[in-house]
Amino acid sequence: MSKLPHDRKSKIEYWQDIPWKRAEKVVFSLQRRIYQASQRGDVKAIRRLQKLLLRSFFAKAIAVRRVTQDNQGKKTAGIDGIKSLNPKQRLELVYTLNPLTGKAKSVRRVWIPKPGKGSRPLGGSLRVRTHQEDEKRPLGIPTMEDRARQCLVKLALEPEWEARFEPNSYGFRPGRSCQDAIEAIFNALRYKTAYVIDADIAKCFDKINHNILLKKLNTFPAMRRQIKAWLTSEIKDGFELFPSKEGTPQGGVISPLLANIALHGLEKCLKTWIRGKTLRYPNGRTMALKHREQTLGVIRYADDFVIIHKDIEIIKEAKEITKTWLSNLGLELKPEKTRICHTFNWHEKEKPGFDFLGFNIRHYKTGRHHANKTTKGEIKPYTLHIKPTKEACLKHYREISLIIDRLKAAKQEVLISKLNSIIRGWSNYYRYSVCSEIFNKIDYQIFWKLKKWADKRHPNKTWKFKKPKYWKTIENNNWVFTNGKSSLIKHKKNYDETKNKTRKKGRKNQGEIFKKVQDVRSPYDGDTIYWSSRLGKHPNMPTSKAKLLKWEDGKCPHCGLNFKHEDVMEIDHITPRKAGGGSSYKNLQLLHRHCHDEKTREDFKLIAEYQNRKELEKQHNKSIKWFNDLFSQEKWKWINDTPVLISVRDKNHVSEEPYEVKVSRTVLKTSRRGDSLT
Ligand SMILES: [Zn+2]
Repeated sequence: MSKLPHDRKSKIEYWQDIPWKRAEKVVFSLQRRIYQASQRGDVKAIRRLQKLLLRSFFAKAIAVRRVTQDNQGKKTAGIDGIKSLNPKQRLELVYTLNPLTGKAKSVRRVWIPKPGKGSRPLGGSLRVRTHQEDEKRPLGIPTMEDRARQCLVKLALEPEWEARFEPNSYGFRPGRSCQDAIEAIFNALRYKTAYVIDADIAKCFDKINHNILLKKLNTFPAMRRQIKAWLTSEIKDGFELFPSKEGTPQGGVISPLLANIALHGLEKCLKTWIRGKTLRYPNGRTMALKHREQTLGVIRYADDFVIIHKDIEIIKEAKEITKTWLSNLGLELKPEKTRICHTFNWHEKEKPGFDFLGFNIRHYKTGRHHANKTTKGEIKPYTLHIKPTKEACLKHYREISLIIDRLKAAKQEVLISKLNSIIRGWSNYYRYSVCSEIFNKIDYQIFWKLKKWADKRHPNKTWKFKKPKYWKTIENNNWVFTNGKSSLIKHKKNYDETKNKTRKKGRKNQGEIFKKVQDVRSPYDGDTIYWSSRLGKHPNMPTSKAKLLKWEDGKCPHCGLNFKHEDVMEIDHITPRKAGGGSSYKNLQLLHRHCHDEKTREDFKLIAEYQNRKELEKQHNKSIKWFNDLFSQEKWKWINDTPVLISVRDKNHVSEEPYEVKVSRTVLKTSRRGDSLT
């Protein structure tokens, strides 16, 4: 396996001839070995395996496929202006790809609107600018070749670091999501109220000190030189060139990993510190070391993090320690955005509760009869609610209303499909929180907005005309905005569906419970059962995809490989719709994006055949109809035992008709001059 095909170079001539299944297996098993070596701390083995991976033809092919076919931003050009590659160019790139040259081309600067704090990091397909988003943030887009090289280096570096990363870091890691971070906060605050540092690092990605990052990376010299080259690559903004002295260029494939590596160690630092503190149990005895660690919660999502502890003095001290830890990296906390608050009470003019990743987390007072109990049976007069933040709801509603305004002249089904994709994504993201009331309210607001939309379309018609035209009752649901074929999803209904699923199992009055990722797990541990079952329950996975995934046993029917977390999945029509296939589940399957591309190419043949057949059928039917028409009773008559046409379709056509003057004659007179039959 480790003998990777140098002789293959001469063999593979076409992109589609690359044995993808074997490639994936070889690369994953190398990654797994890197992960295991990193777990046992065998630095020599890590380096050896990483170099092997970087030289591997298969790894290069996968890296090229990821950046050219799978990646979401595959259509953005770098400074060389190359947006996409055809299969031949892709193969060429695989052969010429040299990851560790120690050089990097400059990156193209693109400005994108900065999502405000407290908004969810994953955007919908249609971004709408709101007033708060005026602050912009720079992205550095590397060239296609650099992207492929970065992806290859990431394939080698990620497993090494996945084995080391801290359990409570959730951002930009395989198999982990925002919901995992939120669930970790839920676990930390479930049975206690506490003080929280809600921290914001000032310009985190732009300020990271290169030398410290490289020192922390602690890798072999060639790799170190290469990463340094990427970090310091020049930035091209319009026609100007800037050198980059600090920060990781955002927009590169490898930059999220580098940022994670830079911020790695905060949790461990704080946990070691709290072990040295003398803490006591409520009964006055000294606390065990293990329990001291458990009292402190540190949860990080990329550069966003919170620190949770019951004691205000500990929290104040933790803030100082965090400050010094960050200053070693060249970073600092933004004073105006970093706040200390309590989850239940007011604390020095600070409101109770805090926002994290678009969720508001806060303890609410409960009535006497609704109070819950802790595990020890004590009554707790508070309950933890995690809700979508006000700003997130407002932004979501603005996005929806802007689309309704924009599409005031469009067909109803166009509006429905545009809105559905936004509503589905948003409500899936928040469906595990306490969202029932909020969802109801948004549905109500959308109804009024849609009513206005209908009023504008028909200003002179009455409500009696408009109501049945746009709203119908479907299966006990009144006021469904529908055109008969497709209907608008309601936030509440999406939530209720997930709620009903668990209610069957005996849980009452609770939405579906999200199962957090196990602390020290990584997809590189090779436990496919655990990871593929988690994949189906992923919060961003729509129900239809999850269903198909389950039927397919987590495997892609086209290539036969297990789906992984970083894979892009797409729904495909087995018999294409242009070849007469329907949209029922029977005709659907879930494929990798690159497999879908291949399948679509094969489909063209099928569609062409189908359309040829259709065309032939059409002509056949046409001629039969013409024949039938021709011989229908009205067009001809028996005249003296001879079938005779009465009229012919074409009036200018030379035709034969019975000679009207002498009907008794059996001989037909031609319209042509000349002799008749003799
Ligand atoms: Zn596949």
